[in-house]
Amino acid sequence: MTKQDELDAIFKRIAGEHGKLTAKQIEFAIREIGRVRGDIANMLADYAGANGTIKRSRLMRLLRELETVEQSLRQYGTDALNGIIEESAEFAVKRANVAVEKVVGVALVTASLNQNVIDYVASRFGDDGLVLSDRVWSTSGVIRDAIATQLRSDIIKGESVGTMVRNVRKVYDNQTWMIKRLVVTESNTAYRTASCMSAERSEVADWVRIVENGSRHPRHKEHACYKLAHENRYGEGDGIFRPTDTEIYQPHIQCSSYIVPVLNPEYL
Ligand SMILES: [Zn+2]
Repeated sequence: MTKQDELDAIFKRIAGEHGKLTAKQIEFAIREIGRVRGDIANMLADYAGANGTIKRSRLMRLLRELETVEQSLRQYGTDALNGIIEESAEFAVKRANVAVEKVVGVALVTASLNQNVIDYVASRFGDDGLVLSDRVWSTSGVIRDAIATQLRSDIIKGESVGTMVRNVRKVYDNQTWMIKRLVVTESNTAYRTASCMSAERSEVADWVRIVENGSRHPRHKEHACYKLAHENRYGEGDGIFRPTDTEIYQPHIQCSSYIVPVLNPEYL
């Protein structure tokens, strides 16, 4: 087994661990952003009359107050996503450092690396033309709209606050796929960006390799990560790129491909 094989095996294992971390991050984000359900329940209780329903005449005011709910959604979402990105960056930097030190005996240069990754991920424009805060805001807006539509119809029907709270929960549960998509995308981008940036600063690797990791998807071969992983752009081998080639940081949304440093010949 060459040192490169050894490193490849460790990075594959790290990618699996990052997948488990992402699953926890999804749960965390859904729970954090879901705090808004409690805020709405309190608001509905304030608006309800003695009979447990809300008068139609109060509908417009209540819907206006949902604006504050959207602000909370954005705040919970922004805080959760920032924490997740930081966690994935830290995870990648720490694990890569331990792995490289173990295999070739050289420590990576990690000073201010986490912050650079966070800055990159927060300001990155996606294929959608949006930055992270726009994506959090648009997700918040969609959830707010879905909840507002439900509340409007429940109030007009004269439903009780108890029913409305239950319906808000259902509406939220139906939208959590959007949160999942956001978390998987951003967490993995932070992970790959951190892997590339740590390789870039290291003397042990001038090149990195992208490994595609999503073979369960029926159209996986159409994914950008698959194409990149099988492209020999520089004549260095399939999937081998410069750590500064930012297209490998985020090949497509929800991409779980990962980055392995390619050891320079003197370290093999
Ligand atoms: Zn992919």
